[in-house]
Amino acid sequence: MRTRRKAFSTAKVVAALLLIVIVMGVIYAGNHFFRLQGQREQEDKENAMVGSLVAAMEAGDVDGDEYKNMVSFFKGFKKEASFDYKRKYENLYVENDFNFKEPQEKTCYLTFDDGPDNYVTPQVLDTLKKYNVKATFFTIYNGSEQGTELYKRIVREGHTIAAHTYTHDYTKVYESVDSYLDDFDKISSHIEKTTGVKPEIFRFPGGSINYFNASLYRQISGEMIRRGYVYYDWNISAEDAVRAGVSAADITRYALSGDSSMQKKIVLMHDGPGHRNTAEALPGIIEGLAKQGYKFAPLTKEVMPVVFS
Ligand SMILES: [Zn+2]
Repeated sequence: MRTRRKAFSTAKVVAALLLIVIVMGVIYAGNHFFRLQGQREQEDKENAMVGSLVAAMEAGDVDGDEYKNMVSFFKGFKKEASFDYKRKYENLYVENDFNFKEPQEKTCYLTFDDGPDNYVTPQVLDTLKKYNVKATFFTIYNGSEQGTELYKRIVREGHTIAAHTYTHDYTKVYESVDSYLDDFDKISSHIEKTTGVKPEIFRFPGGSINYFNASLYRQISGEMIRRGYVYYDWNISAEDAVRAGVSAADITRYALSGDSSMQKKIVLMHDGPGHRNTAEALPGIIEGLAKQGYKFAPLTKEVMPVVFS
């Protein structure tokens, strides 16, 4: 009898413990469920904001109050953001009040992607110096001794040093928002370490909307804007990278082909490996644009961006 009662009370204790475990499990699962639901709602809200922000940029309506409200909305998510990548890359923030200005006079912004290249970039820099023209370099990684000197020379001679990509490997760069930020972090750190200047503007490899990032570009651009960065596409292309060996004469013709009444021209060119014809075409391009009435300036984060839609 005594042992049976003892057995009975042991069973009661076990049952009570089990019940406690089950109740705690239910509470935990419930909490987890509601937390996930809250997180999903937050993510939906952020996605919708990214969508309207990028749509506003695409429409060219980027200096309105609505845009500023959206920017401050994104900044509020700096720490408690629901996406992991927002808590990473602590160094990738730029102070920016997004007060864009349009140039008063007809202005041309010459831009060079994919350099510095040890052969092409020095020639480009020599020409710019000769004509006293300042330009913008959207750079990739070049770890050679000459490359290191070229990043510094770009800065020393008054041009804007900007970020393009570390690897230029589309499938890797555009695999996820995180991999984009990882690549950007590498080129940004390299530029800053080499020149002492932290790049504040950038250009997406392949332009802001391309075959490789179609499903991700709104999220990536929203995240970069949230961090204070401005990106620039172009409204004139010198078509120097459409195929190998485009002649200097063709490059010049393309670069000068745009409507000469445009107030602002952002010209896409390349100073990466193999682009000797671009360097060769550059004097004619500068002279031609000057004849169309343009003055030249480097891009800064105050210049209203040209963004693809
Ligand atoms: Zn490129």
